[in-house]
Amino acid sequence: MEKKYKNMETEVIHAGYEAKSHLGSLSTPIFQTSTFTFETAEQGENRFAGKEEGYIYSRLGNPTVRALEEKIAALENAEDGIAFGSGMAAVSAVLFSLVQTGDHIICSQGLYGCTFGLLELMKEKFKITYDLSPMENVQQIQQLIKPETVCIYVETPINPTMRMIDLEMVASTAKEHAITVVVDNTFSSPYLQQPLNHGCDVVLHSATKYICGHGDVVAGLAAGKKEFIRKLGMTTLKDIGGIISPFDAWLLLRGLKTLPVRMDRHTENAKKLYEKLKEHKAVEHVYYPGDPSHKDYHILKKQMKDGGGLISFEIKGGKQEAQSVMNALKLIKIAVSLGDAETLIQHPATMTHAVVPEVQRLEMGISNQLLRLSVGLEAWEDVWEDLKQALDTVIESHS
Ligand SMILES: *Cc1c(COP(=O)(O)O)cnc(C)c1O
Repeated sequence: MEKKYKNMETEVIHAGYEAKSHLGSLSTPIFQTSTFTFETAEQGENRFAGKEEGYIYSRLGNPTVRALEEKIAALENAEDGIAFGSGMAAVSAVLFSLVQTGDHIICSQGLYGCTFGLLELMKEKFKITYDLSPMENVQQIQQLIKPETVCIYVETPINPTMRMIDLEMVASTAKEHAITVVVDNTFSSPYLQQPLNHGCDVVLHSATKYICGHGDVVAGLAAGKKEFIRKLGMTTLKDIGGIISPFDAWLLLRGLKTLPVRMDRHTENAKKLYEKLKEHKAVEHVYYPGDPSHKDYHILKKQMKDGGGLISFEIKGGKQEAQSVMNALKLIKIAVSLGDAETLIQHPATMTHAVVPEVQRLEMGISNQLLRLSVGLEAWEDVWEDLKQALDTVIESHS
């Protein structure tokens, strides 16, 4: 996409849409239609043959969905974008498109649970192999590269341990071996991190999270080179069929308009809570990417605008103490997912990462006393009051 606006705050509102092409409608119209009529049989023939531009059938393209795709391309500084019915539909479409039977993938340690599940499925059904790596330096990546390695798949910051991976380091290492680098950018959103600007090839999102921002849509997005995105549209999206509905695309367009405002507030709140959590007696460790004493803070400085809205922390004790803190909460909701207006808390060991075998889970740094907080948009003082009274119960039970 050609950059039309200099600043993301303007792009989220205006990129990918011209009111004058839609009878002046300020809001993008919802093209709630399954199919598109052709004026003649020949027009239909030409559209199918690709000789004439135009819509055919909503699984192959829809104007509301297209507006969203152009928006994500602009925000990720990509040539083109593509939308899916879920984050996992985006992950699976991208991976299926890149790999063939016998190929090898290198993944960052601490993958999203269902992405891990997908890799296991691909291993079993299609003889794809993969290795997990902390990706702390070039050597750790290079020692895993084989002739059949076609893809490096990265999540940063890593869920839920908040370690960060240097995207420029990964991209330059991959380039030497002509390996495609895919980044799951769900945790940061394009407002805080733009992986393609650091040499990565494909970026994808669970748009369910910060991009939607209101907890009312499940959707996915990907962006990258025009040719690759076109291929996804013509193969793994069209033929596997994980498309987004026009209405959900519209909700995402609506949510995106406030992405920068929301992310600033999520970050501001998270920083306040992080400071408070650090001082609480029931808390053992706090992991927040925006913490200047974080081991990987130098990486944040290189590639992220700020620390974002996710905090993980370990409380004193184990699973039982973690669950009793959750049960004592009143304002904060117990739920997986993240990036919503409401502050959410979850227990990775028994929820998002329950599918990962315990040995690997502990290797990833996901202990039984680890909790993950998705900081919402409420007044941080109210969130802290709730969290504090719940944490105090751990101290009381130990004294
Ligand atoms: C939620 C999530 C996904 C999966 O997205 P869905 O929209 O739930 O399908 C993938 N990666 C990360 C990092 C996520 O948080």
